[in-house]
Amino acid sequence: MAKKVGLGGDIGDLDQEADRKCEGLVRMQHRRSNYYFTQFLTGYGSYGTFTYGIKKTEMNKCSRCGKDDDREHVFCVCPRWAEERRALKERVITIPETTDIIAYMVEDERKGKTIFDYVVQIMNRKLEGEGV
Ligand SMILES: [Zn+2]
Repeated sequence: MAKKVGLGGDIGDLDQEADRKCEGLVRMQHRRSNYYFTQFLTGYGSYGTFTYGIKKTEMNKCSRCGKDDDREHVFCVCPRWAEERRALKERVITIPETTDIIAYMVEDERKGKTIFDYVVQIMNRKLEGEGV
């Protein structure tokens, strides 16, 4: 295998693997990024904790269960998405913490796409339900 030479010299096979994964992430993000997933990644968007903070809504609670409405709540906890979460778990086995999502998606592109689809599905339905 040919060595890749970066600005600092020979970056070796291990770095080539990391480089390949980063290229995959960039490709994947470019292909799949959209409004809903960006909201999920940033936590800025249709979450009560955010919309309340910018005075767009009058409460920061989930309209379904009354807990603080943030991305962790939507992704991991809210009973509103229990069926979708169950289906996700069947496909990916272990659902990562929200803070580990990108690393998880880079590690396994197929599981990454499944996570992406889950996030987009629930965010799309969440926004439809809120009339946003
Ligand atoms: Zn909820």
